[in-house]
Amino acid sequence: MEASPWATALRTHACGELRAEHAGREVRLCGWIANRRDHGGIFFLDLRDRFGLVQVTVDPECKEADEAMLALAASLRAEDVVCCRGRVCLRPESQVNPDRETGEIEVVATDLEVLTRAETPPIDLFDDAETGTELRLKYRYLDLRRRPMLRALEARAAFVTALRRSLEGLEFLEVETPILTKTTPEGARDYLVPSRIHKGSVYALPQSPQIFKQILMLSGVDRYYQIARCFRDEDLRADRQPEFTQCDLEMSFVEEEDVMRAVETAVAAAFEEAFGVEVELPMPRISYGEAMRRFGSDKPDLRFGLELVEASDFAAGTGFRVFDGAVEDGGAIVGLRVPGGASLSRKEIQALEECAREHGAKGLAWCKVGGGELTGPLARWFEGGRREVLCEGMKAAEGDLCLFAAGRRSRAQRILGAVRTALGAKLGLADPKVRRFCWVTDFPLFEWSEERERYEFCHHPFTAPKDLEADLAAEPETRLSRAYDLILNGWELGSGSIRIHDPEVQRRVFRFLGMEEEEAQAKFGFLLEAFRYGAPPHGGFAFGIDRIVALGLGLTNLREVIAFPKTTTAACPMTGAPSVVDPAQLEELGWRLDS
Ligand code: ASP
Repeated sequence: MEASPWATALRTHACGELRAEHAGREVRLCGWIANRRDHGGIFFLDLRDRFGLVQVTVDPECKEADEAMLALAASLRAEDVVCCRGRVCLRPESQVNPDRETGEIEVVATDLEVLTRAETPPIDLFDDAETGTELRLKYRYLDLRRRPMLRALEARAAFVTALRRSLEGLEFLEVETPILTKTTPEGARDYLVPSRIHKGSVYALPQSPQIFKQILMLSGVDRYYQIARCFRDEDLRADRQPEFTQCDLEMSFVEEEDVMRAVETAVAAAFEEAFGVEVELPMPRISYGEAMRRFGSDKPDLRFGLELVEASDFAAGTGFRVFDGAVEDGGAIVGLRVPGGASLSRKEIQALEECAREHGAKGLAWCKVGGGELTGPLARWFEGGRREVLCEGMKAAEGDLCLFAAGRRSRAQRILGAVRTALGAKLGLADPKVRRFCWVTDFPLFEWSEERERYEFCHHPFTAPKDLEADLAAEPETRLSRAYDLILNGWELGSGSIRIHDPEVQRRVFRFLGMEEEEAQAKFGFLLEAFRYGAPPHGGFAFGIDRIVALGLGLTNLREVIAFPKTTTAACPMTGAPSVVDPAQLEELGWRLDS
């Protein structure tokens, strides 16, 4: 038999690798005590390492088991680190444990040594322990000993390795870009690092390697990728981390399809290798307009139907002000038919109304179809012939529920899109075992920011407009961009675009966004200058490794796939970061704190 790949100076094998075929071998193992049972003087020790658990038996009947060894076994406590020599023996049929990979054998100890003693762990280390997040993060080194955590780290590493292999097969070149750099406009706040040498100046940590990867295209790298750490100082939500890892790439001489094909090829290969899930290619492409019209979302969950219906034509003109007013003001009435939804209780419908309100609706109009009648608040506006028109328009049948939102079209669509997602979860339509990828393309170039009262870029200001000749200021909301997003089960995995490579167009876009020439020069002068020396047409993409690995494992919380994540207040309970800075260090930097 070949030597174990895990053999070292201290051990011959890993605990988890022993099988029936090892029976009769003398082995030396190292690991943590997961459990110790005393069966009338015979000790059963579960010895654990990254690769699994094995049962070590310390038996007084065994000739090598002397008093000292038995006393040592009796003194062992959970998480002590031990080294043991022993013989691999087949377990009697009746004692085989089919739930454990090593369950056909046990190791009968011939020598036992304690390497280090452990104090009682402050958190449970069971696979399904339900410890609070704060404690888990404070004792992350213990939390990571749990099998689901180690499996997640392994799956993540397998995913990245397969991704690298696939991208390299497509001739992508891995290039590192700086961490101490200048601001990159991805729409978040920068993390700043003061410079000691250039007093009063700061570096920004990259929100993404965007500008560097575009410059690499100018340099002729042609196909770049990087597993890149990005930093964004945003208000955190459960699914956000201040630093995260992206698979970032850029390609020269391409159009949208070239980038999407490269990305989906690499993603499918890595997904299959790491999670054993086959991904059908090509992934469906849906335009932003279609995604909004059918699913009320630019990240549609394609695991279920429940598509929206444009209802302005047949639901207006009844005298119901909310509907009529919306259409008169140039907006729309959007409907959602829930097959069999008439069985939802008033309380359940109220929960849907609450969901609509959370997404900016004043309310949700609805009616049920039953016994040839409409019931519910909308029913009185749709009596007689109108009822038939409504049912026909909505394709509604007995037992269905019809929901409506009215107002600005995109808003009404988004509201019902959110209700659709809530219904998908409530009615169990979104099968957690199914993985449905899709591309959303042809995004708008700009969006109106209510907060800042101005147009802002949907993606980032380097994204090429679809129509290069068009006057950006004329009807900006109708301008489309060459951006595309990759979606999995209703989650955005990443974004990319074909870029502007003409400095004049780039200047025009900056100007439209309210950036004066001077500001553009100060921030991105080097990029505009670089563009003067022969820029190839180029485009790229980036997607979050944390998110895709979490979804691959069927998890939604990103923290489960990051070794040392931060809390929702961007803190690390284990190290205590961020921490107070030593005044001497500040002085060296030439900085003074006001508070
Ligand atoms: N830099 C973009 C991001 O981080 C991705 C891209 O456009 O390639 O979202």
